[in-house]
Amino acid sequence: MDKHEHHEDHNETWHMSHAESEQILEDVAFYRTLISNVVFIGKQGQADWVLVDCGIGHYAKRIIEAAEKRFGNHPPKAIVLTHGHFDHVGSAEKLADHWDVPIYIHPMEMDYVTGKEDYPVGDATVGGGLFSILSPFFPTKPVRLGKYIQPLPTEGGLPFLNDWTIYHTPGHTPGHISLFRQNDRTLIAGDAIITVKQESSMAVFVQHQHVHGPPAYFTQNWEEAEKSVKKISHLQPSVVITGHGLPMEGELLAEQLQELAANFKELAVPKHQNKLH
Ligand SMILES: [Zn+2]
Ligand SMILES: [Zn+2]
Repeated sequence: MDKHEHHEDHNETWHMSHAESEQILEDVAFYRTLISNVVFIGKQGQADWVLVDCGIGHYAKRIIEAAEKRFGNHPPKAIVLTHGHFDHVGSAEKLADHWDVPIYIHPMEMDYVTGKEDYPVGDATVGGGLFSILSPFFPTKPVRLGKYIQPLPTEGGLPFLNDWTIYHTPGHTPGHISLFRQNDRTLIAGDAIITVKQESSMAVFVQHQHVHGPPAYFTQNWEEAEKSVKKISHLQPSVVITGHGLPMEGELLAEQLQELAANFKELAVPKHQNKLH
């Protein structure tokens, strides 16, 4: 694992036999790119599968390796992005190049991934751990996925994601989406909500939230974010895979999601921004 082989991208090292996704459901698995998750929709060995989000930069090789372990050499039918933040699109261009597949994103998010518009500079005064964790990965160049990017169809969903409904869950970004499957109530939430792994002591487990509002530093519109959390809560997901943190399920998820939706301003909105409401 420590033996690095040189590749055309000198920033990216090839960690042999390292990258492997973790299965959550028979046809849903995730792979963590240091701080952000990508999701594989498709059963082990299935040829027509879909990738949701692309992680931070320099992870294309590892995502491909994890995908090949699960699906063999079949490329995904498409890549779907929950939103265009760099920790979700960092490896998108390399992956689309490798597989030659389209990348779908909500129409309101298009400008941010084609170099036409930049996300607002984050509000560093909100503090929080994620900003400091992410800061070494802040991109130096704008993301330009113009060659591959396509707007998600506004009606009817995507043909290869028949069971899944795309929900517009703005706030964190204008065109943020979540994917929900009604038949088993599985939710892929992106950054509309996130979970954070806590210490395993029972006190922490009981006392602290695991379901959190969107990452504060990057969230653009808290009123929209609150509406989106209420929308997600209303769906009553039984399993959730978020952009950051571990998947959650069952009673704990239901309780904490309801609590977050009911007390969003207190639990999620940075204190000095509450006055905006
Ligand atoms: Zn984000
Ligand atoms: Zn994120």
